[in-house]
Parts: sequence; C-alpha cells; structure tokens
Amino acid sequence: MKMKTKSVFIILSILSAIGILAASFTFIQNVKLLLWDKSVTDILEVTEQGQHALDTFIDKDYDTLHLFAGELSGVDSTDTEAIQRILNVFDDETTSFFCVNLGTGKVYSDTFGDQIVNEARRQEFLEMEPNGIREPFYDGYTGVRSIGVYEQFNFADGTHGLVQKTRSVKSIRENFTLSFYNNTGFSYIINLDGEVLIRSLHKNSNRTIQNLFDMINMEGNNEELSSNVKEQLALKRSGASQFFYKGEDYIFTYVPMENGNNWYVVSIIPSQVVMKQANTIINQTMRLCIFIMICLAVLGYFYHQTSKKQKKEIEKLAFYDQLTGLYRYEKFLIDGADRLSGDTNNIAVFYIDIQGFKLLNDIEGYAYGDTVLKYMADVLRQISHSKDISCRISGDDFLLMVEYKNRDDIPKLCQEIIEQAEKGFDQERKFKVRIGICLLEEAKKTNINGLIDRAKMAQAGVKEDSGVSYQFYNKTMRETLLRDAQMEQNMIQALNNGEFIYMIQPKYSLDGKKILGGEALVRWQKPDGQFISPGEFIPLFERNGFIRQLDEYVFTKVCEDLHDRIQKKQKIVPISVNVSRVHLYWDNFADRYNAIKNKYQIPDQLIELELTESILLENTKEIFSILDQLKKYGFLCSIDDFGSGYSSLNTLKDLPVDIVKLDKVFFDQSEHQERKIVILKSMIDMAKQLYMKVVAEGIEEDEQLEMLKNTGCDMVQGFIYSKPCIIEDFYQHLEK
Ligand code: C2E
Ligand code: CA
Ligand code: CA
Repeated sequence: MKMKTKSVFIILSILSAIGILAASFTFIQNVKLLLWDKSVTDILEVTEQGQHALDTFIDKDYDTLHLFAGELSGVDSTDTEAIQRILNVFDDETTSFFCVNLGTGKVYSDTFGDQIVNEARRQEFLEMEPNGIREPFYDGYTGVRSIGVYEQFNFADGTHGLVQKTRSVKSIRENFTLSFYNNTGFSYIINLDGEVLIRSLHKNSNRTIQNLFDMINMEGNNEELSSNVKEQLALKRSGASQFFYKGEDYIFTYVPMENGNNWYVVSIIPSQVVMKQANTIINQTMRLCIFIMICLAVLGYFYHQTSKKQKKEIEKLAFYDQLTGLYRYEKFLIDGADRLSGDTNNIAVFYIDIQGFKLLNDIEGYAYGDTVLKYMADVLRQISHSKDISCRISGDDFLLMVEYKNRDDIPKLCQEIIEQAEKGFDQERKFKVRIGICLLEEAKKTNINGLIDRAKMAQAGVKEDSGVSYQFYNKTMRETLLRDAQMEQNMIQALNNGEFIYMIQPKYSLDGKKILGGEALVRWQKPDGQFISPGEFIPLFERNGFIRQLDEYVFTKVCEDLHDRIQKKQKIVPISVNVSRVHLYWDNFADRYNAIKNKYQIPDQLIELELTESILLENTKEIFSILDQLKKYGFLCSIDDFGSGYSSLNTLKDLPVDIVKLDKVFFDQSEHQERKIVILKSMIDMAKQLYMKVVAEGIEEDEQLEMLKNTGCDMVQGFIYSKPCIIEDFYQHLEK
C-alpha cells in the first residue's frame, strides 16, 4: 500500500472508531434516560398500588364500622345488654370496637369493659369530625401502637354517640409488604410534615429516620428540593424526585392517600438499585460495541490481506509473462532502472534471441515454439543469481541484467547461455542463440532504455555464420546508428534538393580501347560538397524502403540525360542502372519503369537493369515472369555480382537475362588459381552458349586481366581502365 492510501486508511479507521464510540455513548445516555423514566414510573406504580391497597383496607374498616354504627342506632343508649351483644358480634382478633355515649361519656368496649371517660375526653370526642381516621397512637389499655377509624351516630333514643374501630399498626405492616425490589426499596406512610407514621418491618427500612424531610434536608441536596416536595404534598399531588443521603443517590415517589388526614405513601430506593438493570444493558451494549469493533477490525484485517493478495495477483498478471514465468518487459524496465540508480557500474545487459525461431515455429508448430521459449526461460533462470533480472520482451527476444565482479565473467556467462541453449531439451533439434551485450561502463550516462537499445544493436550485428554468437556493444555501433537515424531524417529532403546524383563507370572492351557501355552509380553529395558512398546508405534505404524512390529517381535521371543526348544527336552507349530486389515486391514496378522509358522515348536495348544475384534465392517463378516482362518492354537485363553468393553454373542456364556480370571474387588472388580459371572459362563458355554477354567486374590488375584472355569475355568494368566518373567526363571519354 502506498503511504498516502495507508494514512487515509488509518485516519478513516480512527474516525469510524470515534464514530462508533460516540454513537455508543449517545445510545447509553438514551438507554439510561429511558430506563430511568421507566423505573420511576414503575416505582410510582408500586407506590400507587400500595396506596390503593391501603385505602381499600381502611375503607373496609370504615364499612364494618358503619355497619356497627347502624346496628347500634337500632338500640337505645340505655340498653347495655343489646350494646354488649352487638359488640360481641363485631369484635375479632386483630381489631377492637368501642362505642361512646357522648351524652353520658359512658364507653362500651369488649376489651376493656364499660367505663366513663372524663369530661375533657368527652369534649374531645364531641369535637371530632363526623368520621375519620386517627394517626397512630398508643392504645391506653393495650399499650399497642394503633390506628383507628371513627364515626358519630345516634342511638334509637336519639342520644349522640361515637364508634371507633381500632387495629394495631403491626397488622397493617403484616398485611402490606412495604418493601419491594428484593428489600432494597421500602414504602413509608408519612403525614404532611414528613413524619413517618408506618414503616416496613424489614431491618433495612432505616429505623433511625423519623421524618422524611430530615433525610432530604441532609447535606448535598439543595433546599429547594424539600420545599418543592412539601409544596407538592400540600397540593395532594403524586410525583417523584431524587435526593442524596449518606453518600448515595435515592429515588423517592409519593402518592397521596384518600383516607387519613393528609397521609402519603412514599417509596424510597437507592438509584443504584434501579439503574442496575440499566447498567446491565449498558454493559451488554458496550460488550456488543467492542465485539462489533473487533469484528470490524478482523474484517478490515482480512480485507487488507485479501486485497494484498489480489494486488499480488494483479502484479503477477501485469509483471509476469504468462508463458515463461519470467518478468514482462515493463517490469524489467522498472526494476532495471532501479538497479541502475545504485552505486555500482558493473552492470551488463544481455539481449538474447533464438536463431531462426520464426522458421522453427512455422515448421514445428506453435506448441513446440512455446516449449523452446520455456526452455530458454529456464536456462536464464538457471544461470541467474538472486540479484539478476530477466524478462521476455516478446516473441523470442529475452533480456538479462547481471551485476558482475570481473569483466571477463561476461564472455564466460555468454558461453554458458549458448551451451545450455545448444544442449537443448531435444537432441534432434538444437537451437542457437544470439547475444548482444552492453556494459554500463561503455554507456555511462544512459538510462535503462539506452542500455537495452545498445545491447540490441550489438545483437543485431552478430553474424549468423561467423561462429561467434555474442557481441559486445561498442561506440562505432552507436555512431552507425546515429548516422543512420540522421540519414533517415534527411533523405526525403535530400532527394528533393537534388543531393542525389549518379556517376558513370565505363565498361570497356577487353583490350580497353573502346567504351561499350556504362553503369550508373548513385552518390549522395551533401551541400558541403562531401560525398557519401552508396555502401553507407543503400542498406539503410533497403531496410526502410526508400530505395524504391531513389532507384526510380536515378533511372529517371539516366533516361532524361540519354533523351537529351539523343535529341542533340550526340554519341550514346547502353547505360545500366541498379535495381534493388526490394522493387520486385512492388506490384507495378515493370510498368512504372516502362512508362518512364516511354516518356523519354528511350529506344529499346539502350537501358540495362542490373539485378543482384541474391534475387535468385527468392521466389524464382515470379522473378522470371518479371524478367520476361522487362525484356518485352525493351530493357536489357543483367545479373549482377554473379558468383559472389550461392549461384552455380546450373542456375545460369535457366536465367532469362541478357548479360552476366561476374563478381570480382573471381579475380581475387588465391591459392587455387588454376582451378578458378577453369571454372571461369567454363562459366563464360556457358554464357556464350546461352547468347549472354559477359562483363568482368572489379578488374584492377594486369594479372586479373590476364585471366580473361582467350575467354570470350565481352567487357571489363574496373579501376584498371576507369573509376566511376562524373557524367560530363564519361561522355567526354566516349566522344574521344
Ligand atoms: P555494384 O553494382 O557491384 O557496383 C560496382 C561497385 O564496384 C561500385 O561501387 C564501383 O565503384 C566498384 N568498383 C568498380 N571497379 C572496381 C575495382 O576495380 N575495384 C574495386 N575495389 N571496386 C570497383 P560503388 O559505386 O561504391 O557502389 C557500391 C554498390 O552500391 C554497387 O555495387 C551497388 O550494389 C550499389 N549501388 C550503387 N548505386 C546504386 C543505385 O543507384 N541503386 C542501387 N540499388 N544500388 C546501387
Ligand atoms: Ca551494379
Ligand atoms: Ca556488381
């Protein structure tokens, strides 16, 4: 991963982690709030239920009391017996009833019998509400803390009376569980002043507290809280609040009771207990979050791993050659450039190809060709060291970059490659390689492309039949290449500028007394007067195809000059022009030349077309038909450089040409002089029998001329008589 994408990835991860944390935090807050609300509602509900149950319980006391009063109102206040009987019916174990004759102050009771209350007490009774409930009090007779409901009534005789039903506070506690949430929360019954009237029996129900406001007024709570609560209580409203007591937070809820004089049921519970559930949910949420984050991290990790793997796959596709498993050219360029940026100069680049691979492919098939390429890749892998880089460029071209200690190691390495390749995988079909090498020392200041170009240049220069299959790049090669490039750049303009001219080399009779013809030879005359010989540019132009334009140009010029001389009725001889074999692949070559010949009204047999012997190697049928056509158009045709290549006497007999130009190799001095003369003579004899004229080329010495004596050779073209000369000079000689 690149630095930039890596840091973006890290930042994104951190941001998403923060995002998840923030979301969790908000979630937790929301859960807390919701659970808080729910808990408060729950507690309020518990409190309300308590209040309702208690009220119903007290209502029942009222009801029985009312029945009791009803029974009593049916008897006279003086009927003690009847009153006692009624008392017996109502009294039970947990409650006690009594009845007061408010006229006399006489009290009737099952528990403590009949007695008279004093006047103050009687007055007190008289002042009481028509009915109601009394706050807890200590029963004067039983000593039990009790509450009681009372009701005023009239006996049958109209005497005013009061009845009361009393029950112990304990019985209330026993009937109502004033604790909840597993005894962590407790309910209290308080009055408007906050005094605790009834509390749970449980030991945790905080016996020391007698007044709720004592709790609320403790440190840590603001005063507003208690006054607020007081206000709410006074308004007979139910509600909930929170307060701090002895280092802990508490929730408390209050609900007004219907019975009692401003009584309230209050429930108190530590917040912590209530939030326990919330905390469990929060903890689980946190765990879930952490789990999700871990999952994401794991996923991220695996994604990273697979994308790394994928990247490798892509790299493999992009950088490795499918067939051979070697690097591809692009990868070689990258790694090679990298290697060149190091500090060593001892680097060599090898450009390797397999000789005749195309032919091998054609003959043996592509599958076989592929096997050869794979074998070659194996050879390169075998001889490579860990630091070396190799690749297949395309087809059968390979590159190898090595770091060497000693320059002498390179030829050894070449030899090793050549031998390994020659050993081959198939004893029957061995193959040869050609290697061009460029050393970085020889081409300092160049880049990887420059090294490869130079190695290729050296490789292209390996002569197939020289016996040595490798060659080092040297500066001359580069100069040649540069010069070629320059010529290629200038050639078209040079042609338009008339920089190409032709010279004529005369063809003399054997004795040198008569000029019988001439050969037009092209020259490139630079604007500065310098001449470039055809040997330098013809091979290049043959390669890039420009030779067709140039040959046609020279031919046209020759026609133009001959036409001129004919018009002026000046002396003329047949002039030959060279025709590169490239023309033969040009469909209408014969027609084009004929058209030019006709344009300048050149008589037949005045122009000779020289075709090199090497065309005989090509598709002879086609060439013969072209030759036939040329002859039909009135051209003389000659075979040039005859004897320099592979042609034999036999080929000569089938050739439809008018003239044979014997190559100068025939006249080179060598050991087998006599044998050579025999061959030469029989060759000329044969040409004569076929009615061909014979020209001997490259004759420089008298001894060479001697060889031609008594052979019937028609003409001599050589320095012995004349070098190629400018057109004016040639015709001047001719006139003489
Ligand atoms: P070529 O057609 O065999 O032409 C004869 C070459 O031999 C000429 O070289 C000529 O100067 C040289 N020569 C003649 N007599 C002697 C001698 O006694 N001793 C030696 N050592 N050399 C002799 P040149 O003019 O340099 O041309 C070289 C080659 O360039 C020609 O060989 C021909 O193949 C090619 N060429 C020249 N002009 C043209 C052209 O217009 N078109 C084409 N396609 N090729 C041309
Ligand atoms: Ca020639
Ligand atoms: Ca020649």
